[in-house]
Amino acid sequence: MQAFLFKVYETQMGSWTADLKIQGFKMGKAGGCCLYLPYPIMLLLKPNCEHCGTLLPNNSEDAMICSYECTFCRNCVADLLENVCPNCGGGFVQRPPRPAMGLRRHPASTVTYLKPIDMQAFLPLKKRLVHLAPTER
Ligand SMILES: [Zn+2]
Ligand SMILES: [Zn+2]
Repeated sequence: MQAFLFKVYETQMGSWTADLKIQGFKMGKAGGCCLYLPYPIMLLLKPNCEHCGTLLPNNSEDAMICSYECTFCRNCVADLLENVCPNCGGGFVQRPPRPAMGLRRHPASTVTYLKPIDMQAFLPLKKRLVHLAPTER
């Protein structure tokens, strides 16, 4: 079974959507909250924490991602976000490092993603979700 995305386009600031085709048939839509997608299918390795700018190279064990690839450092996720993604409300896991042979074909992004959290806007969302498991939000 082969699935692929085509017609990737931005819908609004900070998000993208694409039609999803499986074996040549249009099966639906896919999307995410990342604006710059040089490679629409594989995980986007952002080089820094989107809030504080801490560098998060591929091999960093402090890179945390949500299911939409919003990327923050471990400290921001623990102390500031309390495991609530300010963009999608989901939880975080440690980003898996890409192996060297994969990096040669699909290198980490060199685009700086810096979108410091608007705490005033984020706090109500955090309050509502922080006590729920990510799958229950
Ligand atoms: Zn950070
Ligand atoms: Zn997110």
